[in-house]
Amino acid sequence: MGKHRILILGGTTEARQLATALAERNDCDSLLSLAGRTAEPMAQPVPTRSGGFGGSDGLAKFLKAENFDLLIDSTHPFAARISHNAAIAAGRTRIPLFALRRAAWKPEPGDRWTRVRSVPDAVEALGAAPKRVFLAIGRQEAFHFETAPQHQYLIRSVDPVMPQLGVPHARYMLATGPFEEAAERELLIDNRIEVIVAKNSGGTATYGKITAARTLGIAVVMVERQQPDDVRTVETVNDALGLVDHHFSPEMKRGV
Ligand code: NAP
Repeated sequence: MGKHRILILGGTTEARQLATALAERNDCDSLLSLAGRTAEPMAQPVPTRSGGFGGSDGLAKFLKAENFDLLIDSTHPFAARISHNAAIAAGRTRIPLFALRRAAWKPEPGDRWTRVRSVPDAVEALGAAPKRVFLAIGRQEAFHFETAPQHQYLIRSVDPVMPQLGVPHARYMLATGPFEEAAERELLIDNRIEVIVAKNSGGTATYGKITAARTLGIAVVMVERQQPDDVRTVETVNDALGLVDHHFSPEMKRGV
């Protein structure tokens, strides 16, 4: 019997962990797809491809041409376009799809969050009075803060923000997580940060700044996710492996 062909849309730690687990099985043949944004992507445990497919049409054609049996969307919770395309392409090709997406963080006692729906809303939420802001939302949407030049920004990203922001006070830091709470605490104190802008990514790798903010009483503007909610979603790699088994079980094959 041929191996099950799985396309994993990746770019996250969970996608890499899932690919690692699938690589250890001899009944699956997985391909990991990356957007190709990161200059030096990490080594991956299975074959990879890189770059966009050309929208949902391109993805549908790719799935058919390469005879995939299953599509797993394990992209970042804020990568909304590719997730939307995956849902359309799966519907069109009738190739089963599920998402592996870590659970969002929930506010805890002591947290001072303002929850917003988008990065432009986060800019608004900072208010008119000048503040010392730690921007930890990645580089792609940092440009929105050009409309609030009154603040002083410390901007952290994996790859450089290009072009830099047209604001008078911005400093840039390149760093890749995970970030420990103690180091985050030091960073917030040393830079006299008054407010953090973060995306509700979930997971532990970038949660240190949130717990550090809690203990220091620092405000957080939290950008919440906007993902299609009609796709079956699991939150852990183990649950994803369970669903893979389920999809390839003899009962599913007979359409029971
Ligand atoms: P996006 O806005 O949802 O996607 C934009 C376009 O990039 C998609 O339409 C698609 O191009 C291409 N693309 C995205 N992910 C892809 C993948 N895994 N394989 C092939 N093509 C992909 O996504 P994004 O915010 O630019 O994020 C890009 C990647 O970075 C994602 O894989 C995501 O997991 C990762 N990431 C994102 C964030 C974040 O905060 N947004 C943070 C960490 C990691 P076509 O339409 O041409 O197919």
